[in-house]
Amino acid sequence: MTEEPQAGRTRQLPVFHCPYCGDEELTPHGDSADGWRCGACLRAFTVRLIATGVQQ
Ligand SMILES: [Zn+2]
Repeated sequence: MTEEPQAGRTRQLPVFHCPYCGDEELTPHGDSADGWRCGACLRAFTVRLIATGVQQ
């Protein structure tokens, strides 16, 4: 899987693996910009960044 930057992409956090089952079959879901749907376990979820550079 390539991770090259995608020009014009509005989603800030591309998700490559489902956090619940680990599958890679993720597609955008819903109106939320961070909504994803897993094609393997059929879960829909959002990924939200809450901090950067956290040491502890
Ligand atoms: Zn899944």
